[in-house]
Amino acid sequence: MKIICIGRNYAAHAKELNNPVPKEPVIFLKPDTALLSKRMPFFYPSFSTDVHYEAELVVKIDRVGKNISQKFAHKYYSELTVGIDFTARDLQSIYKEKGLPWERAKAFDGSAPVGKFVVKEKFKDLKDLNFSLKINGESKQNGNTANMLFSIDAIIEYVSQFFTLKIGDLIFTGTPEGVGPISINDCFEAYLEDEKVLDLKIK
Ligand code: MG
Repeated sequence: MKIICIGRNYAAHAKELNNPVPKEPVIFLKPDTALLSKRMPFFYPSFSTDVHYEAELVVKIDRVGKNISQKFAHKYYSELTVGIDFTARDLQSIYKEKGLPWERAKAFDGSAPVGKFVVKEKFKDLKDLNFSLKINGESKQNGNTANMLFSIDAIIEYVSQFFTLKIGDLIFTGTPEGVGPISINDCFEAYLEDEKVLDLKIK
């Protein structure tokens, strides 16, 4: 499986990192080794001193498809959760400045923990879905899919032009504003509407 990530999908977040608001989705990939086994902590990597959290709505693909039109995109997923796109911001800044690929900053082992998946029928409107992140009990990020620049279905149409989507692939749909650094011993909790889907400790 592969993990497809969308960058800068919320205008307020693009702004907080001084990035332009994109006209097309910004895409990057993480390998399957970026997933974290359930109940495993996230170990702060030795190659960075500025790892940031980015809480994101995550869509699980459950049907094979290529060149999927937006109209039919909803048939390709039935479950959602929240995941964290861990980012070594110090490395990413260097690579961005030099115009180099981001993988070492974004795709390292354990950089894509995901929560428990919830069936989409549980939610009234996927275009008005709240998700949030608390760290040590304090609210850090609050997202709503209404603020996405590219909707879930628009993302599926766009990415499936380039990559065949396969069963089990995950799409990280971008983070809202409020990203920041993590610290060892932090406790992360992520919510989809009122349901807690992720519990994660930083070691
Ligand atoms: Mg991200």
